[in-house]
Parts: sequence; C-alpha cells; structure tokens
Amino acid sequence: MTPGPGGLTPVFTRGAETAGKVVALTFDADMTADEGPRAAAGEHFDNPALIALLRRLKVPATVFMTGRWADEYPTQARSIGADPLFEIANHSYSHYAFKSPCYGLPTVAKGEMRGDVERAFAAFRKAGVRNVVPYFRFPGGCYDDAALRALAPEKVTAVQWDVVSGDAFATDADAVAQQVLNGVKPGSVVVMHCTRSAAPVTDEAVRQVVPELRRRGYRFVKVSDLMRTRPA
Ligand SMILES: [Zn+2]
Repeated sequence: MTPGPGGLTPVFTRGAETAGKVVALTFDADMTADEGPRAAAGEHFDNPALIALLRRLKVPATVFMTGRWADEYPTQARSIGADPLFEIANHSYSHYAFKSPCYGLPTVAKGEMRGDVERAFAAFRKAGVRNVVPYFRFPGGCYDDAALRALAPEKVTAVQWDVVSGDAFATDADAVAQQVLNGVKPGSVVVMHCTRSAAPVTDEAVRQVVPELRRRGYRFVKVSDLMRTRPA
C-alpha cells in the first residue's frame, strides 16, 4: 500500500465492500519469545491439524507468523510457505507488544521495534520460508502512531481485522463459528489463531464456518487479494 499519512506505516483493516462476497481468514501463529521452555515441555504452539484442514477444504489463508514460531517449527513454516494456498506475513519475532498496555504482553522497547520485525523476516529466511508478503500484524493488534512511525522504514503494511473470531482461549467451537458468521461482510478480514495451546477449538470452528460461508456465496481469498480490491 502507499504510505499512510505523515509517512506512517499504512494500516489495512478490511477490503472494499464493493469487492463482492470475498473474505480473508487470517491465522496468527503466536509464540512469545520466552515460551521455549513450555514448548520443550510438550506444549503445542503449532496446529498441524488446522493447516491440514485448510488444505483439505482448499481455503486460501494468510498466516501471520512470529519469528519465534518459525524457529520452533521450521519444517511446518517451510511447508506452509511452499504451498501456494498460503502466504506468510510477519507477526513480530518476540510477540511482545508495540504499545503498552496490551493484554498483559511484555513490551518491546521503542528503539527495538524495527529490529524485532527484521528478526522475524530473518527467522523466515533461516527456515527457508517462501511466499513471504510485506505485511505486519501487531501482537495483540496494539499500536499507536509512534509504532507506525518506528516501522515506516520497513515498508510493511500493518494488517488489522474487522472480525474477531474470539478463538483465543475459547472452548466452545460453535460460539466461535457463530461469532465469525455474524461478523463477516463483503471484504472482511477475520482474525483467528494457528496455535493449539492458546486456541484449541479453531479447527472445529473453521470446519463449520467454511461450508456455511460458501453456502452464502462467499469466496475465500488471501489478504493480498483483498488489498487489491481497494482503490490505491
Ligand atoms: Zn498474536
């Protein structure tokens, strides 16, 4: 996207409503920098069943991956990036907040914001991840003008959402599916997670949402497709 006002990082929230019945499902592959010991103890920050389901249903999607996740799961990161069904975007390296407070996340120092984003791109390269797009999602979706200014030299587009699935720490897949179905409009961006430990019912919710939205005439697209529906 073209630069935002005052040279700030541009922010994309949703496609044009005139785009017709298209919707982008986005999945945040979260892992916070200090969660390594929990992963080593057997906790799953990945969700291979979800990725397999998206493939089976042929649903294009954008995965916002933390660099720490790519470090932990390089084979999966590479596999997702090698599949033309998906594109991989940056969700920071550390999953620390770029604005405080933000859902109790630790905060990245202002002088380290750019470095944290670059470190995630470097982790993708190290893992051999392809199909990386220049989009960035702020951890927790928390940002302010100072963060948008700090990231401007990175030439990324910040991607938010207009539909919260509520899948984080959810236990009721039906409720998550209903919230998505109630929220989606033409051009919507839906935020979900590809992190089993923090979003254990997401694949079940997707299993409900996809056929129903298709029945309503919706087509699933990636964020990059949705961005093209907006006037420049
Ligand atoms: Zn996240």
